[in-house]
Amino acid sequence: MVLADLGQRLHGALSQLSRASVIDDKASVIDALLKELCAALLESDVNVKLVSQLRAKVKAKVKKSLEEAEKAGGRELNKKNVVQKAVFDELVALVDPGTEPYKPTKGKINVLMAVGIQGAGKTTTCTKLAVHYQRRGFRTCLVCADTFRAGAFDQLKQNATKAKIPFYGSYTETDPVAIASLGVEKFRKERFDVIIVDTSGRHKQESELFEEMVAISGAVKPDMTIMVLDASIGQAAESQSRAFKDSADFGAIIVTKLDGHAKGGGAISAVAATKTPIIFLGTGEHLNDLERFAPQPFISKLLGMGDMQGLVEHMQDMARANPERQKDLAKNLQAGKFSIRDWREQLSNIMSMGSLSKIASMIPGMPAGMMDGNEEDTAAKLKRMIFITDAMRQDELDSDGMIFVAFDKAGNPIGLNRRAKRVARGSGTSIREVEELLAQARMMAGMARQAGGQNGWMTAMQKMQ
Ligand code: GDP
Repeated sequence: MVLADLGQRLHGALSQLSRASVIDDKASVIDALLKELCAALLESDVNVKLVSQLRAKVKAKVKKSLEEAEKAGGRELNKKNVVQKAVFDELVALVDPGTEPYKPTKGKINVLMAVGIQGAGKTTTCTKLAVHYQRRGFRTCLVCADTFRAGAFDQLKQNATKAKIPFYGSYTETDPVAIASLGVEKFRKERFDVIIVDTSGRHKQESELFEEMVAISGAVKPDMTIMVLDASIGQAAESQSRAFKDSADFGAIIVTKLDGHAKGGGAISAVAATKTPIIFLGTGEHLNDLERFAPQPFISKLLGMGDMQGLVEHMQDMARANPERQKDLAKNLQAGKFSIRDWREQLSNIMSMGSLSKIASMIPGMPAGMMDGNEEDTAAKLKRMIFITDAMRQDELDSDGMIFVAFDKAGNPIGLNRRAKRVARGSGTSIREVEELLAQARMMAGMARQAGGQNGWMTAMQKMQ
């Protein structure tokens, strides 16, 4: 998972809170939480000023909310939730640029142009982007306007061929503006939906980089110019993104190499502080290592709370890429249905796809530390989840999970029933794990039914809590 260390520390700080017995704004547990939170952020190279602002804001929010909770006769559990929410919200605010980027739409030609200093990961990112849009049904192509670096065209050609994406470039033309115009013109005529232009990044200085960007931009008229930034520059991302924002009409940023750098938190928060939209994060060298960036899901995953929306999108991608195998799922999702059997199918798909930790971090309840590139532990945990479904009977698998809920005489849900205990025993797992799996399936069902209609599961579980 991206920024696993930071996530683990933040998660650890919040878990201390859940073990505490007394919560008030004078309690040392809040101070300890804030101290650990700030230390973790500083270590990830988040700017000192931003960290101290966050500290003050969380403190003020907690104080106010605790006073309100106290007045309402709040229980300790509620108070913990109040503190957790304050921390969560402020972490989200820290990485939220608060601006909407351009979104390519179908039925028109969308030209995207990537700029960035050499080595930032531009060429790799362009191909990842092309794959991303291609999977979503856009007709996508690549133009290589990097005439400076020997081998740049070969690299793009190789990547594009591997991903089966049409490309344009030249071994002889040396003017990047000319190549960019010719390539974009050709693909415009062929009515591609998304045309991605890779530019050269030879420049040592930002001003030169931006000059070339303006020249190519004038020729190809991009709908969105994307700056590719290497996360290892940490806080320095602020000056780069500010300068970029001032010279690009329609700018968005992709931060790369978040898989390898402890400073990633600094880079993301620095870019966010300049209000330049971050659209994706690069999380590895492979074509699939691109994650859409949105502040809330990002923090949610960081804290081990999952990203159900991202997971559903991922499943839809897989369904598109593998229509035969996933036909039923697509149909069920469309009809607003989602059974435990569907969830089991997804779990085994995830198992068969490799790079487990990245996808598993989207599942709520997968502990943050486990995602620290530790594929073995992640696989073991996923396997236990599949064992649980193996111990279920056919009717249980086909259900949405309500079948496992026990009710009192008045019809109120009071916990899990004997079936659930049988499944825990039969699978060699615990009732807690069964509950977790049911909760995941329930969330998926909830998302599938988002369009409306009565959701039995949701209502039952809400009453139980
Ligand atoms: P460019 O000069 O900006 O076009 O950079 P390249 O696309 O050639 O990338 C430079 C190096 O960074 C290559 O070795 C890439 O494999 C690597 N790279 C790019 N993006 C990522 C990423 O998100 N994570 C990691 N670990 N490596 C990356």
